[in-house]
Amino acid sequence: MKISVIGTGYVGLVVGTCFAETGNDVICVDIDEKKVRMLRKAKSPIYEPGLEELIKKNIHEKRLSFTTDIQQAIKKTEVIFLALPTPPLEDGAADLQHVLGVAKQIGQSMNGYKVVVNKSTVPVGTVDKVHETISKYAKHEFDVVSNPEFLKEGAAVMDFLKPDRIVIGTRSRRAIKIMEDLYSPFIRTGNPFIVMDERSSELTKYAANSMLATKISFMNEVANLCERVGADVEMVRKGVGSDPRVGPQFLFAGVGYGGSCFPKDVSALVKTSEQYKYDFSILNAVMHVNKNQRLLFTKKILSYFKNDIKKKHIAIWGLSFKPNTDDMREAPSVTIIKELLKHGASVSVYDPVAMKEAKRYLRNSVRYCKTDYDALKGAEALVVVTEWHEFRRPDFDKMKKLMHNYVVFDGRNLYDAAVMREKGFEYFSIGRG
Ligand code: NAD
Repeated sequence: MKISVIGTGYVGLVVGTCFAETGNDVICVDIDEKKVRMLRKAKSPIYEPGLEELIKKNIHEKRLSFTTDIQQAIKKTEVIFLALPTPPLEDGAADLQHVLGVAKQIGQSMNGYKVVVNKSTVPVGTVDKVHETISKYAKHEFDVVSNPEFLKEGAAVMDFLKPDRIVIGTRSRRAIKIMEDLYSPFIRTGNPFIVMDERSSELTKYAANSMLATKISFMNEVANLCERVGADVEMVRKGVGSDPRVGPQFLFAGVGYGGSCFPKDVSALVKTSEQYKYDFSILNAVMHVNKNQRLLFTKKILSYFKNDIKKKHIAIWGLSFKPNTDDMREAPSVTIIKELLKHGASVSVYDPVAMKEAKRYLRNSVRYCKTDYDALKGAEALVVVTEWHEFRRPDFDKMKKLMHNYVVFDGRNLYDAAVMREKGFEYFSIGRG
């Protein structure tokens, strides 16, 4: 099949590359010329395990190409995926300018039947808006399909190649048949291919992300209570998660969720609810808890130093919003670091892959270090923000040789409190008494 993917970011690049991997001819389009130049040289602009190898292979086999010429891409392909940004507006609603702008270009460039498949996370009713926009210009038949994307950054290639489920929102038989053909290689093991109406499909994505965000905020509240009552959230997590009705995943307490999806999708669903005069009260609480969780953690650090961290040197391990990605969007590390700087601390940072991205957010306000141990030189405290594997078993003796004061604030519960005590560290984590 001939496919174009408009928007070659975290989602579009994975989608385009994986469709090429299953034998389709794929043209990826982006307005960012620098990104397109890089991709043509088979260099991935993002860190995503396994992705660059697949890009290289599929460029070499001439199934994958990159361009800024959207008109040509539309003319040459029958299936057009949209993987465009839908960032939050000031009031929390999703900004549809990119999606509707491209819809207009599609209408103007059509030269035959097209299926326009929306992978961006968009509010209920967007398929109708895209349809309306294309209709104004189109002289050919077309269908618009909602096909929300559930891949996780850090495991995006595997998630896309082996999805839990495919959700398709359309009432067009013709479009369903094309989607079935396209996705058949990915669901050979029998994972569900769920066809529904457009609005249910659009809402499914928001409901899924909001449910996951709710789980995180709920466990963070349990953790906060654990600290007050002297319980251990790790034990509570195991006890609760063993109930199959709850399940063991997404129950880890920490400094809260970040990233480009959960914060914006939860607030967009609240906004949609408001527009339909419904008070989705649980999600307001989820957002409140998440915002507060980062600040509670910072307060823990401040209170250890009796609210005086002026000129104190603090080391940060982990900057990306989660491990295995360089994505810094809405990363808790940024909020925590800015709070520490605001109170006069000096900060040195290390992340295995997100250092370059971090510079866009933190500029020259911090010292960027080549290794995790470099960041510890002269530190009064270590603050662990992202649970990268390489931070899980550090050389504690080496750390002590570098640090000025042996205290660790662990925002991801990576270490055993008893071991830390034994090694001579003061140790503070989340929800562990
Ligand atoms: P991104 O910002 O990484 O990528 C978007 C790309 O679109 C950028 O490269 C940008 O240059 C390009 N672009 C913007 N306007 C364009 C235009 N007019 N024509 C061509 N290209 C244009 O965003 P992302 O993380 O890939 O997310 C895309 C959508 O998918 C969002 O709606 C997001 O909510 C959703 N989503 C993201 C994830 C995720 O994990 N990142 C997962 C599921 C769904």
